[in-house]
Amino acid sequence: MKEIKHFINGQYVGSASGKLFDNVNPVNGQLIAKVHEAGETEVDAAVKAARAALKGPWGRMTVAERTEILHRVADGITARFDEFLEAECQDTGKPKSLASHIDIPRGAANFKVFADLIKNVATEAFEMATPDGAGALNYAVRRPKGVIGVISPWNLPLLLMTWKVGPALACGNTVVVKPSEETPSTTALLGEVMNAAGVPAGVYNVVHGFGGDSAGAFLTAHPDVDAITFTGETGTGETIMRAAAKGVRQVSLELGGKNAGIVFADCDLDKAIEGTLRSAFANCGQVCLGTERVYVERPIFDEFVARLKAGAEALKIGEPNDPEANFGSLVSHKHREKVLSYYQKAKDEGATVVTGGGVPEMPAHLAGGAWVQPTIWTGLPDDSAVVTEEIFGPCCHIRPFDTEEEAIELANSLPYGLASAIWTENASRAHRGAGQIEAGIVWVNSWFLRDLRTAFGGSKQSGIGREGGVHSLEFYTELKNVCIKL
Ligand code: NDP
Repeated sequence: MKEIKHFINGQYVGSASGKLFDNVNPVNGQLIAKVHEAGETEVDAAVKAARAALKGPWGRMTVAERTEILHRVADGITARFDEFLEAECQDTGKPKSLASHIDIPRGAANFKVFADLIKNVATEAFEMATPDGAGALNYAVRRPKGVIGVISPWNLPLLLMTWKVGPALACGNTVVVKPSEETPSTTALLGEVMNAAGVPAGVYNVVHGFGGDSAGAFLTAHPDVDAITFTGETGTGETIMRAAAKGVRQVSLELGGKNAGIVFADCDLDKAIEGTLRSAFANCGQVCLGTERVYVERPIFDEFVARLKAGAEALKIGEPNDPEANFGSLVSHKHREKVLSYYQKAKDEGATVVTGGGVPEMPAHLAGGAWVQPTIWTGLPDDSAVVTEEIFGPCCHIRPFDTEEEAIELANSLPYGLASAIWTENASRAHRGAGQIEAGIVWVNSWFLRDLRTAFGGSKQSGIGREGGVHSLEFYTELKNVCIKL
């Protein structure tokens, strides 16, 4: 049986405790690997290796040398594209057609984009007058923050982990990563690529395990971790923030959402249907930016619901290797239980089930997979659990509205503020809405268009801080002012 070990100081090492947990393929229930569970010993070893590497060759490299290595990391992922693809799809159950377009290429791009960005970053300089007339010169230098703890989720494992590791390393930091226990494979595989690319030992470290009272909590509590970057649920973000308070360590938190789509009667309906279908059902709804609340202007409500239903029912559910499948399984049976509990709640709360609401019939060899049906509801009150809580599954609730003000108010009515989509051909209305919606990202007539140079993050309880482009540099570096009396 394959074993997945920690990657510490450039080597794969097992746990001293000998504790292992199962990594299971959600499509067929087969055991993919036994994974070593880190205790405090392994987390401490990883943090020590990361600290030491800051003082080693990594810390002495020029930006040109460092970024050349990061380009080799990106090329290394691309060269082993099929292995990464296989590993990611086995862990998550997502279709290869999706992961080959998004997860793996973006995982590689995250290293190149930030390597290129860091080469061109300037800082500030200010001359100042002094009472003696000689003057002084201030200039700022950017320094790496140090050892960064990276805690990543299971929905886009390689993409979201490298979204943090790429800029962290480009800025000269070292990292200790704790991937979700559901999806350890690509994070582990990246260790081989790092070694082959010439990343010095200790720069990239991985510890496997669970969150609370396990590797995640040990890492966030470790006093020698300088900053923590986290993507996951809002509740976990609060726990991590508390852990980071000890020692006054900085956090970047990319958290949950309950994103709204607003569809005006003056939209291009074909585009709105196509975009809402993707935003509700892509990656089986396990996308933080996905739309779980859809508000549709009353004159087009019935047509919109009918067409979205038709689109949802046309999705092809299948296993990762099925070239026609565009809808995979959920990441695990545990997550399926959560999603199905909301499917039940919707019925209990009196929803009209437009489509789905249960488990699809699958061929016998796939019967044990973590499948659920793409699901659409209407008719729920605004305060129902299904409309207010993040489900993170392939489902959405559609509700009619009558005025622009009402739509904006509904979109802003929850404590989350990650993303939103507006569908309208009226430019003034689009700008007005984009200005008023409380979210870190507002798409107009689009969804999931992402330029890695742009700011990414959530408002309200969807996060703290922005990553992406130069905004990542703010988190992964410390600006030091040098004041020289002339
Ligand atoms: P979780 O918050 O459950 O877990 C995220 C990571 O944190 C996992 O590696 C988890 O480990 C770890 N963790 C859990 N508890 C602790 C703890 N006490 N201390 C340290 N680490 C801990 O989120 P999910 O993995 O379920 O991911 C889905 C969530 O992520 C959704 O809410 C989604 O909205 C959000 N998300 C946000 C994004 C954004 O950019 N805003 C993007 C993508 C997802 P383990 O899995 O082993 O428990």
